[in-house]
Amino acid sequence: MADTPGYFDEGALIAVMTTQPLGRALDYRAPEGGCALGAFVEVPLGPRKVLGVVWGAGEGGYDESKVRYVLRVLDASPMREELRSFLIRAGDYTLTPMPAMLRLATRAPGLSDPPSMRKVYRLGPATPDRQTDARQRVLSVLRDYEGLSFTLKELAEQAGVTSSVVKGLVKQNAVLEQDTPRDTAFPRLNPDGQTRDLTEDQATAAHHLCQTARAGTYATTLLRGVTGSGKTEVYLEAVAETLRQNRQALILLPEIALTAEFISRMEARFGARPAEWHSGVTMTERRRIWKMTAQGACQVVVGARSALFLPFQDLGLIVVDEEHDTSYKQEDGVLYNARDMAVLRASLCSAQVVLASATPSLESWTNAEAGKYTRLDLTSRFGEAVLPDMRAIDMRLEKLPSSRWISPTLQSAVTARIEAGEQALLFLNRRGYAPVTICRACGHQIGCDHCDARMVEHRFLKRLMCHQCGETAPMPTVCPSCGVEGKLAAVGPGVERMEEEARALFPDARIATLSSDLFTSTRALKDQIVQIAEGAADIIIGTQLVAKGHNFPNLTLVGVIDADLGLQGSDLRAAERTFQLMRQVSGRAGRADKPGLALMQTFQPEHPVIRAILSGDEEGFWAAEAREREAAGVPPFGRMAGILLSSTDMQEAFDIGGQLARNDQALRDAGAQVFGPAPAPIARIRGRHRVRLLVKAPKGVALQPALARWIAPVRGSSNFRLSIDIDPQSFF
Ligand code: ADP
Ligand code: ZN
Repeated sequence: MADTPGYFDEGALIAVMTTQPLGRALDYRAPEGGCALGAFVEVPLGPRKVLGVVWGAGEGGYDESKVRYVLRVLDASPMREELRSFLIRAGDYTLTPMPAMLRLATRAPGLSDPPSMRKVYRLGPATPDRQTDARQRVLSVLRDYEGLSFTLKELAEQAGVTSSVVKGLVKQNAVLEQDTPRDTAFPRLNPDGQTRDLTEDQATAAHHLCQTARAGTYATTLLRGVTGSGKTEVYLEAVAETLRQNRQALILLPEIALTAEFISRMEARFGARPAEWHSGVTMTERRRIWKMTAQGACQVVVGARSALFLPFQDLGLIVVDEEHDTSYKQEDGVLYNARDMAVLRASLCSAQVVLASATPSLESWTNAEAGKYTRLDLTSRFGEAVLPDMRAIDMRLEKLPSSRWISPTLQSAVTARIEAGEQALLFLNRRGYAPVTICRACGHQIGCDHCDARMVEHRFLKRLMCHQCGETAPMPTVCPSCGVEGKLAAVGPGVERMEEEARALFPDARIATLSSDLFTSTRALKDQIVQIAEGAADIIIGTQLVAKGHNFPNLTLVGVIDADLGLQGSDLRAAERTFQLMRQVSGRAGRADKPGLALMQTFQPEHPVIRAILSGDEEGFWAAEAREREAAGVPPFGRMAGILLSSTDMQEAFDIGGQLARNDQALRDAGAQVFGPAPAPIARIRGRHRVRLLVKAPKGVALQPALARWIAPVRGSSNFRLSIDIDPQSFF
C-alpha cells in the first residue's frame, strides 16, 4: 500500500487523537502492515492502552527513537473525512476539546474487542441415519430458507422442535454448526413497500423532498404542520427516496425510547425494522449499529440526539422530528444542540435536513423567513380530524375551595367526555405531589441540603426529592426548623396531587397518571401508553411527557391545569416555550374523527401569549416574538453564550467571575459584551456554588475564538469548573 494517499506504512510517524483529555494529538509509529488515515487504533499511553484515531502525519522534531508503536488497528472502518471535519467544526462551535468530541463519536462499548462470535446453523452435506418428523421439519426449514443462517433458538422455533433435535443433526453432519461474528447486517428496507395516497399538500411536500434527495445536495427544509397533518407520512417518502439513491437516513426523535408506535409504522412502511439507537438499547446492539452504519449495512437509524455522531458511510437525509423540542439541547457534558449540529453535519456530507414540527422554534422560523431554509406547510389534519377548539377558563371567576385546582367549568367538561365514552387529559407540567412543603407554625419551607432548591414531595415514593440533584429524604413529621409536630403542609399541586383530586371528583372514572418518575422502566411506561391509547383509562393525568407525539385516538378533551406556569421567570424563551407546549398539548385532542376541545385554566387570560395561543394566530405570534428579540439583540438576532463557573468555594467562583468581567478586552475587540457575574438562578447544586456570566454579541461576530482567548488565562483550584454554553436555551 506504499504511496497510497492517506495510508501510512509501517514505522511512519503518525499523529493519533485519543479520547483522553490531553488537548492534542500524540505521535506514534504506524504498526506492522501500516494503517490508514482515520483508522481506529489502540495505542499505549503511559501504562495504559487507549482508543484513538489516526489523525494525520506525525509532527516529529524531537527524539524520534522514543516514539512508541501503535498496538493494534481495530476491526472497524476508518473514520471518514466527513465525520472528522464534523467533529472539528462542532468542537470549534461548542468550544469543546477534540477528545470529548471523539468520545461522542465512539460511544459504542467494546469497539476494541475482537468481534464476538455466535453459533449459526446451516444445511449440512450428510443425510441423517434415521428420519423422524422432527428432523425432517428442521431440514425442510433449512432448505426453504437456503442461504439464511439461523441461531439455535431461531431454528428450533421455526421448525417447532427442541434444540436437542438440532444438536442431534449436527452430530451427524446433516446440519452444520458455524461460528460467525455477532455484528450482523441489518435487514434491507424496501423503499417501495406499503404506501398511501397522499393529499395534495402532502404530495407537493413529498415531491420537493424527493427531488432534493435525487439531487444529492445539501438543503434544509422546515416541514410545518399541525399534529396529524401527515408530516411523518411525508418525510417517510423522503426516507424512501434516499434509500433508492442508496444513501442512509437518520431520524432523530425526542423521547425515542417511548415511541414503539413509530417503529411499527416504519416496519409497516419498509417491510423491516430500522435500527434503534437510544439509552435503552443493549450494548451489543449499539456496537452492531455503530459498525454497520460504517459499512453501509444499516440503512436507517431512528435515534436520540447522540445518533448524530454515528459513522455513517453515506448519510443522505437527517430528519429532526419535533425540531423545537428542548431535549435536543444536551445540557451536560458537551453542550450542543442536535438540531443545529444536524444542519452542520448535513452540509458537510451533502445530505438534506428535514426539520418537522407543529410549532417550530423561533430560530428555524427565522431561518425560513430569511430564505436559508425552504418552508413547506401542511395546512390541515388528515381525514376528518380538525384542530381542537381552544378556550380559556378565567380562574379569577371560578369558585374553588383551597387546595383544589380543577375548576367547576373544567370538571363539568370532563364529566361530559366521560359520559360520552371519550378520554380527557389533565395536563400539569410538574412531577410529584406538591412543589413546596411548608411549616404552618414557623413558615419554614423544606429545602435541599445541597442545593438552593425546595424539596418536592413525592407521595408515591413516600419521600421528599430534590429535582436538581435527585437527593431524597423521608417525609419528616416534625419541622426541622422549629421542631413543632404535625404542622407540615403541602402547598401547590403536582401530578400526584391532581390524581388525588381527580379521584375525589370523578370516583367512577379510570384514572392513569403519566409521569416519568412513576415508572420503574421505560418499557413499563411504554406499555402503559399503549394501554391508555387502547382505552384503558378515562382520565389521563400527565406532565409534558404526554405532549410528545403519542396518539390517543379517543382523547377529545385537554384541560391545562396551570397555563400560566411557564410564563413566570425571566427566561428569554418563556413565551416561545409556553406557546409551543400549549399548542402541542392541545394538539393531543381530537386526533381521530372526533373534534377536540382544549381548556386552559389561567389567571391572566389577557396575557399576549395566552391570547396568541387561543387565537391560533401563529404567524402573528412568531412575528411579534421575532420583533421583540430583534429589538433586544438576542438570539436568533444576536449571539449569546452563557458561562457557568462553579466551585465548592463560593468566593473562588465569584473571584474568577469578577476577573473575567474586568479583563474583557478579548471580547470587546470582537464587539462582544459581558454581563455579570451574578449568582445563577439556582445558586447552589450538589453543594457547588454557581456563578454566571452572559456574553452578548451582534450577529456575525466570530464569538468562539474571542471566548477562547478570553477564558484562556483562567486558573482555578481543582474544585473549580468552567463551562461555556453557546446559544443557551435556559439560564440555569
Ligand atoms: P404528523 O406527523 O403530522 O403528526 P402523521 O404523518 O402521523 O402526522 O399522520 C397522522 C395520521 O394520519 C397517521 O395515523 C397517518 O397514518 C394518517 N395519515 C396521514 N396522511 C395520510 C394519507 N395520505 N393516507 C392515509 N393516512 C394518512
Ligand atoms: Zn438538591
